[in-house]
Amino acid sequence: MSERRNESSSIAEMPDDIHLEPGFHADHHPESSRRRFLKSAARLAVAGALAETLPGVALAQGAEARNADPGLSQIQAARRVLLRGGVVLTLDRQIGDFAEADVLIEGGAIREIRPNIAISDENAVVIDAANRVIAPGFIDTHHHFYQGILRNILTNGLLNPDYFRDINNTLTAAYRPEDVYAGVLVTALSMIDMGTTAAVDTAQVQHTPEHTDANIRALQDSGMRAVFAYWQGTGAASQYPQDITRLQRTTFGSKDQLLTLAIGSTLNAKIFAFAREVGVPAVSHGVSGATETTLMQLGDMGLLRPGDEYVHCNHLSDAAWRLIKDSGGHVSLAVPIEMAMGHGMPAIQDALDHGIRPSLSSDVDVTMAQDPFTIMRSTFTLQRLLVLQRARSGEQKLPPLLTCRDVLEFATIEGARCAQLDGKVGTLTPGKDADLVVLRADRLNVWPLNNAPGAVVNLMNPGNVESVLVAGKVRKWLGNLVGVDMPRVLQLAQESRNAVLRRAGFNVNMLD
Ligand SMILES: [Zn+2]
Repeated sequence: MSERRNESSSIAEMPDDIHLEPGFHADHHPESSRRRFLKSAARLAVAGALAETLPGVALAQGAEARNADPGLSQIQAARRVLLRGGVVLTLDRQIGDFAEADVLIEGGAIREIRPNIAISDENAVVIDAANRVIAPGFIDTHHHFYQGILRNILTNGLLNPDYFRDINNTLTAAYRPEDVYAGVLVTALSMIDMGTTAAVDTAQVQHTPEHTDANIRALQDSGMRAVFAYWQGTGAASQYPQDITRLQRTTFGSKDQLLTLAIGSTLNAKIFAFAREVGVPAVSHGVSGATETTLMQLGDMGLLRPGDEYVHCNHLSDAAWRLIKDSGGHVSLAVPIEMAMGHGMPAIQDALDHGIRPSLSSDVDVTMAQDPFTIMRSTFTLQRLLVLQRARSGEQKLPPLLTCRDVLEFATIEGARCAQLDGKVGTLTPGKDADLVVLRADRLNVWPLNNAPGAVVNLMNPGNVESVLVAGKVRKWLGNLVGVDMPRVLQLAQESRNAVLRRAGFNVNMLD
């Protein structure tokens, strides 16, 4: 442990004076991994900063972006952007949806949505969105971002004992700050790439404040919207939970930013009391029939608050569901992971039966894909299977079958409600931030387009995600992430994967 602390990198050591280096591409000079980490982090940060002020320069540096549409720099510089003639799923029931409409974005926010918006000023850029579906960005309410470098390392594993033994206990303990940075960055960028514009990072790797700072820095550098659910770490240097007060004073001092703060926890009265004391929502993991007694005790103690998030919720009683509902809680169901790893029956119908529209989450990609299409499709098929099997058994008075629109709402506006972001995102509503995805319908897996919610939920995959905006900023454009040095990101992830496995004495199994 002491060796790890001595050698661990510190974001705080990063030089303030960062010079932009020409040729923003991966290099292969032998350097210490620590120096490479710092340099890489600095470069990504520079790219992010430049994207704010000098989009053309940032664009010219990215290997991917070099091949992108030159119109991107115009869009980044424009104050007003008009997406013209798309199928627009606002998912705002007041506004409705449009088989063909325009979306006007101004100053990072949605200004207007209707057919035939006329704009004349020369500061506006018009984008042809014909044969595209424009929808709110997807929102994933529970993912352990740092595990991005451990993808598929537990291909056929179960929660107990495999995940607890290999991921929780062995591999997580071997993370240094630079590995947290690499894992979180590769996860966040892949989420943007797949259309997820906001997520809750259930961040169980806070071994030291330096780990925490690296985690936050990677979220910031990615450009995605995120709730950082500050959580435990291992070892004597862990400052959980009290270090959250430092974060409240520093990184999270402003509400006008893409990152917000919560505290991650098991159902623990002390942590809940602390969360109430410092005024942050609690994101509770491991909520299930097995832990229900504790949940009820927390309710009796008056420690639950509106806006708290409950993850998994398999096999809860009626009383527990009523407690969650009555206390203003939200739920996050990790449907594919729960089915594959043995958490129990996903609580889709239980939630609906108790008047709760659930949000959806990917949980971990040590076993399963993160993409929102996989999660939505699993939810749609499982709920319908269960109801249809009940019908087949002769049961009467069955609940309605989920529709694709229901599931699309779970993956957007219900995610926003769960993450306390529905005032800003989750629907395409004038006044909200422009977090949206442009999905290609003119592809062989979708065309001809006959039903937009059906196409998104039941036909599409991440390959249909053409462009992604977060708060009006273009993060993916015509199929490529913007302002990202992809070879360097891949290199960082690979180096950290190697380092974590080496320290943990863990071998991957490439072929079985
Ligand atoms: Zn989880």
